[in-house]
Amino acid sequence: MQIHAVSLDLDDTLWPVLPALIEAERCVDAWLREHHPTVATAWPIEAMRELRDRIALENTHLSHDFSEQRRLTIRHAFAACGIDDAPVDELWSIYFAARNRVELYPDSLAALERIAAHLPIASISNGNADLEVIGLDHFFRERLSASGEGVAKPHPQIFRAAAERLGIAPQHILHVGDDPLLDVVGAREAGLATAWLNRTGERWSHGPAPDLEFTDMTALADWLDALRASDPSIHTHPNAR
Ligand SMILES: [Mg+2]
Repeated sequence: MQIHAVSLDLDDTLWPVLPALIEAERCVDAWLREHHPTVATAWPIEAMRELRDRIALENTHLSHDFSEQRRLTIRHAFAACGIDDAPVDELWSIYFAARNRVELYPDSLAALERIAAHLPIASISNGNADLEVIGLDHFFRERLSASGEGVAKPHPQIFRAAAERLGIAPQHILHVGDDPLLDVVGAREAGLATAWLNRTGERWSHGPAPDLEFTDMTALADWLDALRASDPSIHTHPNAR
């Protein structure tokens, strides 16, 4: 296997996403209770979550765009309370700021530093995490999101777009992510090498096994170091960043 670049999932690969999403919902709810108590009473957190799920189901054309789903949810919640000019932008920025206050897994930062020193990295995410806001953008040569590309993982097109942007053939890119379907199956379909980041010790039960499996990002960085040591002819990218 010759690996010349890494593509990385973000949520639940570099940080656990659920705590940030829950906190973001809480921040939105707190703002509503202060500024629009009627809306807050009509749409407590659980009801707002169900509304968003329903809006996602009813708007499959937005399945790649979680941000637009949320904005639509806000508009709908306010309209149901008789308010047509919902403060969509304000609420979206409150949500977005909290959603990006993620706490990295303890192994993520050091591993990113090690990998980025030798290989270009692209991020491929279906979510709306913002690497600049999080402060990790300098590790990534390319950043691809489902909303930006108009198509979400596991569609092969988003992986091929990453390969094109990196200028590296798909088979020389190792895609790493926690989700068996979105990351491993999707990347394999697009011809990338695949690594399943299995932090919770699950058993693989999704068809053909991934090329590689790691328990954390340190194990990935170790494997890439060993690969480089075993074959010095593999070109490295001194200016990978
Ligand atoms: Mg993920």
